[in-house]
Amino acid sequence: MIRAFSLGLLMITILCSCSKEPKKASPVEASSVIQPEDTVKALELEVDEFGLPIASVEIEEHTIERNESLYVIFDKLDFDPQEIYSISEKAKKIIDFKKIRPGQRYRTYFKEDSTEALSHLVWQPNSMEYVVFDWKQDSLNIYKAARPLYTKTEVTSGVINNSLYQTISHAGGSQLLAHKLSQVFAWQIDFFSIRKGDSFKTLYEKKYVDDEFYGTGDVLAAQIEHRGELFRAYYFSEDGVEGYYTEEGESVQKALLKAPFEYDHRISSPFSKNRMHPTLNRRRPHNGVDYAAPRGTPVLSTGDGTVTRAGYYGASGNMIRVKHNKTFETSYLHLNGFASGVHAGARVEQGQVIGYVGTTGRSTGPHLHYEVKRNSRAINPLTMDLPSSESIPDSLMDDFKVVRNAFDRQLNQVQQDTAETDRPVITLNDTFISNDAFDVGRTR
Ligand SMILES: [Zn+2]
Repeated sequence: MIRAFSLGLLMITILCSCSKEPKKASPVEASSVIQPEDTVKALELEVDEFGLPIASVEIEEHTIERNESLYVIFDKLDFDPQEIYSISEKAKKIIDFKKIRPGQRYRTYFKEDSTEALSHLVWQPNSMEYVVFDWKQDSLNIYKAARPLYTKTEVTSGVINNSLYQTISHAGGSQLLAHKLSQVFAWQIDFFSIRKGDSFKTLYEKKYVDDEFYGTGDVLAAQIEHRGELFRAYYFSEDGVEGYYTEEGESVQKALLKAPFEYDHRISSPFSKNRMHPTLNRRRPHNGVDYAAPRGTPVLSTGDGTVTRAGYYGASGNMIRVKHNKTFETSYLHLNGFASGVHAGARVEQGQVIGYVGTTGRSTGPHLHYEVKRNSRAINPLTMDLPSSESIPDSLMDDFKVVRNAFDRQLNQVQQDTAETDRPVITLNDTFISNDAFDVGRTR
């Protein structure tokens, strides 16, 4: 006790001498210099970003090192094994110890009193979340909290020289932004055919914790000029209507047609994980739907896309495969023949006649085997969940226009800025790590 008391006295002495020294040395600056007394007063009211008081405590920043567990951390802080055990018993109800990784930060707060005891420890698994160990009262209290997330909107634009991803990344956007942008336009633009000279502009959200960038948020509006054609999309959400829409309020997402025929046709064999095969006579999954239809019945592409296969493929017979976007692909089997102009690499539109029903390959009679793949996995075309392709209803059209015009103003702002400041247009000449989805002209 006596030792602690004298230490306290010594500290007061140091504080006093400090406060006087600057005044003597430079009286002119004294008024602008924050005096220690004032600092102490201010600190009493002040808290740090975790809401913890920063007065009368010694704060230390640490980084979790390799192989450091909760046990090692508390061992370093001089807790005995029994105490560490009871801390981890309490902590495991709140935190997942597997999330403790090297490089993460934690902060310790030691009381600047005679006890010099640890009053708080804050572990930060990421820049937003944190866990507080609070010994302020006699018993330990552990709680999770998060620093507030701020969203700012930002416009990124560029002229594509090599790939969308590369251009966005040079313009300060993330790979996630490139991905999100390509998802918005997935049903309109074949990103494999993005080429030099195409341009984009996007208004999107960026999330921050204080001033620290936390992550890319949603795309609010975007435009892409592709082969001289301008595509625009605006995010709109109201009364259960949600999605990206064109200037006219039409959904930019197009669902696939329910069936590859103009008229209804009888389903002769449904999608099944385990069906008795009619000619092989053993159980195997049926990855599509069979439609019984007379030979020569026109078969329609169920969505816009690029033909990736049009030819004879053994048991499949004459087959057409269409890639609609990064996610969806459809196949049409046992065809009698192909419509003119349908060959690998050809662009087809939703509802376009691509071939005719036949019985080529392993088939017992004229029928169409129709298959849908989502992310390379066959799904049931009759029950699949597709993005809504509904337009904005008339009742919400006025609201949509307000949103759209506001987004347009923000997008156009950038153009003006660029012109005024004469900022150079992004041009890229270096080669870059190629990302299939965003590369220019690599498909054919
Ligand atoms: Zn089939």
